[in-house]
Amino acid sequence: MRLVFASNNAHKLQEVRQILPATCEVLSLRDIGCTDEIEETGETLEENSLIKAQYIYDKYGVDCFADDTGLEIEALNGKPGVRTARWAGEDANAVNNRQKALRELEGITHRDAQFRTVVTLIRGGKVQQVEGVVRGRIATEQRGEGGFGYDPIFIPEGYELTFAELPPEVKNTISHRARAMAELNKIIR
Ligand code: IMP
Repeated sequence: MRLVFASNNAHKLQEVRQILPATCEVLSLRDIGCTDEIEETGETLEENSLIKAQYIYDKYGVDCFADDTGLEIEALNGKPGVRTARWAGEDANAVNNRQKALRELEGITHRDAQFRTVVTLIRGGKVQQVEGVVRGRIATEQRGEGGFGYDPIFIPEGYELTFAELPPEVKNTISHRARAMAELNKIIR
């Protein structure tokens, strides 16, 4: 089976290839010659992941899947959610985003949060969605050098270390993305 993953992120591609069976060949956007910037205009993770997968399916006619991830902070009614990548502004980087999260939660003791990944699979025109969630809490300061994005301020449930402090093998086993890919694995088998 051959599936196009609507991403060029080398880290994600490697993770996905490890989780899906070896009989499933996973191609990147680059592999199919797609250099388009697909606009994520949806209001939810479900919509954005569907927009990306549908774009590839419609333009290239290949079976494919796309993911979209958000950090959902309970005390902020699920924010930043679909705005996770650009929470601190259009040109914001990961440091700005993390600082914004710490600022927004200043003085707040209820710091429960979750990462949620939605994956949309389109095979033969049929659309299926699965999700993966890792629950945890937002730390009171940044800790750790590993990972990316919000990792230095996210402490997964059952641990005292942030995702940036935990060994990558641990993060990659319990993460939202790993869990979503495991669900994808179940439906493609
Ligand atoms: P994307 O949908 O995978 O591009 O993720 C959107 C945003 O969520 C990224 O820009 C990161 O800021 C954040 N994010 C996604 N996955 C992770 C993760 O595993 N750790 C920390 N931040 C993440």
